[in-house]
Amino acid sequence: MRQPLLSVIVPCYNEEAVLPELKRRLESVCRQQVRDAYEVILVNDGSLDGTWRLIQAMVSETPCFVGVNLARNLGHQLALTAGLSLSRGDRVMLIDADLQDPPELLPQMMATMDAGADVVYGLRVAREGESFYKRAAAWVFYRVLSVLSEVEIPKDTGDFRLMNRKVVDALAQMPEQHRFIRGMVAWLGFNQVPMLYTREPRAAGSTKYSLRKMVRFSADAITGFSISPLRLSSVLSFCCFVLSGVVAVYVLYAWFALNVVKGWTSLLLLFLVFSGVQLLVLGVIGEYVGRTYVEVKRRPLFVVSEILANPKNVREPR
Ligand code: UDP
Ligand code: MG
Repeated sequence: MRQPLLSVIVPCYNEEAVLPELKRRLESVCRQQVRDAYEVILVNDGSLDGTWRLIQAMVSETPCFVGVNLARNLGHQLALTAGLSLSRGDRVMLIDADLQDPPELLPQMMATMDAGADVVYGLRVAREGESFYKRAAAWVFYRVLSVLSEVEIPKDTGDFRLMNRKVVDALAQMPEQHRFIRGMVAWLGFNQVPMLYTREPRAAGSTKYSLRKMVRFSADAITGFSISPLRLSSVLSFCCFVLSGVVAVYVLYAWFALNVVKGWTSLLLLFLVFSGVQLLVLGVIGEYVGRTYVEVKRRPLFVVSEILANPKNVREPR
């Protein structure tokens, strides 16, 4: 079985509106780069629309296309993980289905890799057609992450990137359940080179990242790359210690010099503040304990229900 020079991994969740256009553009740019020595792995992440039917049709008419049907919706990062573990190419490109990341940048990425890069990652200089709220949330997220994280994770990047086999194999050695792939790749090291580009508006359809998915994604990123939030309780306890010293001085003074009996307001305020702080800290600890629990179960990262490929392309997960 011949090893493809290039694998392209596309996670698809309810993307029937964009797939035909994606196929046309991807096929043409891949052909132009490596003729037919490529594979496009379309990972259907439990879509509710006709995405899988479309993928089936595309695989049957294009030998270089491979369809992977996950057993349910596992989210963008696990869909990418499934694609990565099934990929066989010397180089692997990750790209969203919605054409926000132009496939036509592939030649530039390949050239950068020819010049010695192990990873070429897309750095968004502009994000077209995304709401103010989405851009603001992304801006804040990357700044908070960079303050907290112990490794330098490039800001304003996505998963749009080209990696060589060395990096993909190293990534496959990282078994964590809560995956933040752009951070994991940054953690690996190697020679990583940014490529500036403008993120286009979605070709069709609407974003598949709900607010809930975005919040989870951010929590995975932060807890996966930093244990600083766990130190929050130490920081807060220091503040409380200082504060209680001040309050103690006042209380003693009041006891000697003032005629106090009331005190209800201050008691209630102190109670509210301290119980709030304690709950917050407990919540943070709970996040980490929960994630430890999930890791300990050691469940498989994804479950594949079906793989569709041209007979010469049939594969086993690595
Ligand atoms: N996606 C996925 N599973 C999900 C949500 C999204 O595979 O549960 C895919 C989606 O089909 C797309 C990519 O992840 O190819 C990025 O999603 P989207 O474009 O909706 O995110 P945005 O660009 O709005 O951040
Ligand atoms: Mg998108």
